[in-house]
This record gives sequence, structure tokens and C-alpha cells, in this order.
Amino acid sequence: MLAFGQPYDLLLQGGHVIDPANNIDAIRDVAIAGGKIARVAANIPANLARRTVDAQRLYVTPGLIDLHTHVYLRGRSSTVVADDAVLPHGTTTIVDAGVAGWKTFDDFKSTVIDHAQVRILAFLNIVSSGMHDDQSKENIVADMDPRATAAKILQYPNILVGVKSAHFTLPGWASVERAIEAGRIANKPVMLDSSIFSNSGRNTRDKVLKLMRPGDIQTHMYNDHQLELLDRFTGKVQPWMWEARKRGVLFDLGHGAGGFLWPVAQAAVSQGFLPDTLGTDLHPESILLLQASVPNAISKLMNLGMSLQDGILRATVNPAKAIGRFPERGTLSEGAAADVAVLALDTGVFSFIDSMRKKLTGTKKVECVMTVRGGEVVFDRDARLLPASGETARPAPLPSYPFEENRLEEGSTVYDLVLKQGQVIDPGNKRYGRYDIAINGKRIARIAKRLPVAHARLVVDASEYYVTPGLIDVNADVNFLDSTTGVQPDQRSLPYGVTTVASAGATPAVIRRSRTQVLPAGVQIPVGGLISSGMNRQNVLTEQASMTRALSLKWNEGMPLTEVIQAATVLPARAIKREDLGVLREGAPADIAMFEIRRGDFALVDDNRRRLAVKAKIECILTIRNGGVVWDAHGLSIREWTQAGRYTSFR
Ligand SMILES: [Zn+2]
Repeated sequence: MLAFGQPYDLLLQGGHVIDPANNIDAIRDVAIAGGKIARVAANIPANLARRTVDAQRLYVTPGLIDLHTHVYLRGRSSTVVADDAVLPHGTTTIVDAGVAGWKTFDDFKSTVIDHAQVRILAFLNIVSSGMHDDQSKENIVADMDPRATAAKILQYPNILVGVKSAHFTLPGWASVERAIEAGRIANKPVMLDSSIFSNSGRNTRDKVLKLMRPGDIQTHMYNDHQLELLDRFTGKVQPWMWEARKRGVLFDLGHGAGGFLWPVAQAAVSQGFLPDTLGTDLHPESILLLQASVPNAISKLMNLGMSLQDGILRATVNPAKAIGRFPERGTLSEGAAADVAVLALDTGVFSFIDSMRKKLTGTKKVECVMTVRGGEVVFDRDARLLPASGETARPAPLPSYPFEENRLEEGSTVYDLVLKQGQVIDPGNKRYGRYDIAINGKRIARIAKRLPVAHARLVVDASEYYVTPGLIDVNADVNFLDSTTGVQPDQRSLPYGVTTVASAGATPAVIRRSRTQVLPAGVQIPVGGLISSGMNRQNVLTEQASMTRALSLKWNEGMPLTEVIQAATVLPARAIKREDLGVLREGAPADIAMFEIRRGDFALVDDNRRRLAVKAKIECILTIRNGGVVWDAHGLSIREWTQAGRYTSFR
């Protein structure tokens, strides 16, 4: 229904707009109509819009652009579902960094690009079939055809923005030279992921001053094996880096699981050598513990001294320019596509993890609150656009267990990890109280009242948290490979305390590619008394679908926490006839979740798609799957980088 006199579809009111392209850094309203930015001005009347969002105390920026992602699902096992992985982070345009080559691009386009809500562009790999799990296939020089690569790029000028050279482990420059030749023919930039290891015969000076052209992009810039960015003795940024930048060579963050080291980033940022662009190198290994996202990259660099404005510039205008898409992308100019990020800048104490699994404890964090893509709200963290439920939250009283004064248990076993004095809720064993849980290898070694911390290689203080068996989700669409509705189980389970997903639609490929235990077991839904996520690719974005939302909702509706955990552990285990799961048992695989009760003003989507205002919610802060820490929101198991000694990935 279009009411007369309401020319705008959506009005973001009172936010702090950062739009570097238009030199705006001030409180402004942003009006959207017909999928485009209609007006950016102070005090646009609310009655001109059909829907308004109060953006006071929030930042409103152009939709973020991630220059380095991996989203072609069939190309390689280490890729992610695009929409689900980036839309919750305010990212509306992504560039796949060479998973496909000229022989596989058509499949990438028809299976992924054509179905995504996020705008997907791509660098085409110089290797004809793109990236492989077996990276030696990316060393075959005869398979790097500059003419065929350029021809494909020219065939799809709206999608293909350049060439990628990556993972070449033989000596010499063949891969780089052929990629640059393709870039020359197609008149497009090249992105390099190219090591300078001792045996490579390559060095930074030749790469950035002789081979690379202005506009070519070196990614993974804060690693120390793709660039000699810093003098190893003085820590000073090398003169050739400044010279290369002056020549127009671009440097991308390319965070990933191997591209970001605190000591390099800290030294470079303190000397003003910031990334041109904030590519995340998004893939299954970077998305969990390291939480690779553009806002996460901005947060990390802000805690090293960069300003938010600098971050937004490097996530909007700069990447748009790097791929020849400026000024169509990366701005809030009137008439531009309405791709918008609404961001919160929180202060507090937060943990950020680098590629060496070392943390920085910082005080600033940027998080996405809402994402608008082509005028549509595609992510709404706080359910601002849903109607209020009218109900009042009545959370059940929380259990509180006393600290143990039992004698320390003795023995001569060394444990890998001990979770110390957590408030354990293990309904399947009727075990409630403070316990120490010791893990060795993949298994739970001991559950006891008090274990000596001196017997553990690593101790995590669990005393502030509830410790439960890994949750079991019996209602989730995880068929992410052969359908357009499934979510990747790891990304949507492990950060929510779920270690087992039972899904009738799970294919062998999904099971093989998941760290989560995925069981192709069917359960008739609804099963009374069970809590499940019901998640799919749509509702994880628009309705907060997850196990922790479901747990938080039940608890806020008055269900005691012990019963909530029971309905997500031992009861679903029985429903799928796997009574070995959903309990904490010595000798069993260590699948464990730790939760905290977060207090504040939150909104939960209830089961009628309404917004329930709550004062507390349940969040998963640590997940152990098969003995390994796979999620650690507070970095409890991780050392501060300044205390870790010198580290390097050079070899
Ligand atoms: Zn990459």
C-alpha cells in the first residue's frame, strides 16, 4: 500500500552519516525510494516515509565492500555461503578472489552469483579451473592462459573485475606475470596472493616496484611472508612500500586465517601505513574464531589507532575505486543504489584474534545493526522493523551454584585443557553444580569437583559461565551446497553452542565439509518439548534464527534454565536415538558449550515474528567440538599478543 504523500519507502533518521565520497561526516537522515538513495539531509520529516528507523547514536554508511572473499561453493571446500556470511556485517558488495577460473566461471555464476542477494563480483583466477583443495594444481603454468582469462573477463564486464594470482609455490614469477598479462589484455587490475618465502626466488622490491602496475593489488599485506613491509631489525616501514604506494600499487588487508599478524599491523598502523582496502579473505577458517568481517577488520585497526572515518573510507570508496566501480558503488549519493550499513560503535572490553591465534584486548568494537541492499532491509539485528509483541518478558530465576571447597583431586594425569569451576548444567546426568572439566585430545578425561590447575596445559576460568553439553539442533536446513535455502552448519551452529545438527536433508558433501557433527537423521517437527533453531538461509538474516535465540526466548518466557538446556541436549539426543550425545561423560568426545547471561536492552524475535523487548539474553561464549576450541568470543583460551613473544610465519 503506497499512501499518498509518502514518497520514501524507508527513512533512516538521526544517524551519524559517514559518506566519504560526499564529504559528509555529520548527523543526517537518509531517505530511500525505489531501491535508490533518494535524499540525504538534516531533518527529513518522518511522515514522508512509509517506514522509519531510529538511527540515533548509530553510524550510517554506504554498504560495505569486501574486496577479498571466497564464495564459489563448488570450487573448493574452503568457501562460504555469501549472503549468510556477509549481509549480517553491513557488506553489500563482495568480490570473490579467484576461486573460479575461466573454465569454471559459468558454473560459479549460475550456481552462486545469480542467486545471491549480496552483489557478487569476482577476480578470475589465472589458473583455468581456479583454486583447488590440492593447491599443487595451482602450480601448473601451462594451465595459466592470459588470452582465455582476459576473454572471459571481457565477456562478463559487469561481474569480472580483474585477475587473481594465488598459491603459486614454485620459484619465479610465472603466475604473477601471466596474471598481469591477462590484466593488460583485459585492462583490469590483478590481485596478488604471492609469497616471498626464501625458496621462492621472489622479493618484495621487484614485486611492488617492477612487476606490479599502478592499480594492481597485493593482498595479505599484514602477513610477513607476502611482503617485506617492515625492516626486520628496526620495525620501520620499508622505503619501497612508500614508493610503491606513490606509484599507485594498492595494498589489501586480506585478513583471513593467515593474513593478519598483530606485530606487523601494529607497527604499520602506528607509522601510518594503513591498508587501502579491508578485504576479509572470508572462508570457513577465518569466519569462526577470527570472526573475519569488514566491521571486525575496522575494529581491529581502530584498536591500533585508526579512526572510524578511515575505516569507512577503506571499506567503501577505496574498494569501489580499486575495481572500477566508483562512483556507482561506495557512496550514499542521491540516485545511487540504496546499499546502506547501519553500524554501532560500542565501548567496553572486547577480544580480537589474529591469524596466529593471539588476541588483542581492546575497548572499541564496530558491529552491524542493519543492512539495506537495493532498498530492502536484508538484516535487522534488533528486529527494529518488526511489530512489538505486547508481551512482557518474565525470565526464570537463574540457578546459582556455590563454589566447591572439596579437596583437590590428586593424580599424575596431564590435561590439555581444564574448564575451571563452571556452573555445569548437564540434565542427562542430573549433574548440576560447579565442576572442573578436563579434556585430553578429543575426549573428556575427567569431570570432578576440584582438579589442580597445575595439571593442565591450559586453564579456562569458567566460573562466570554456564557449562553444558554441546547443543543438538534437530530442525535446521543445512543443505547449503545443492540448494539455495540451506545454511552452512559450522557458521550457524558452533558460535551458538551447537555441536550436532540432525538434518534429514544433509548430503554426504555437507557432512564431509562440516566441523559440526551433522547427522542425516530425520525428526518429525514439531516434537513437543524440544528446542530447535528452525534456521534456513532467509530467517537467519531476518528473524535471528539460531539456537541461542530459541534458548533466550524460552528462558525469557519463564522456562527455567535447566529445562531450557535439557530441551536442547538430552531430549533431542533421545529423539534422534543417540543417547550417547547431549551429555557430559568421561571418555566421550568433548563437545561442550559455555554460555553467559548478557544484560542490557535487547530485542528477540518471538515465534509470531514480533519483537519482544528483553533485559537479558543467553549468549554462547565458547564452544568445544571434538576437543578443539572452535569458538571463543572472549578469547578465554587465547594469549594476548604482546605476551606471546615474537612470532612470524616466514620460513
Ligand atoms: Zn583469499
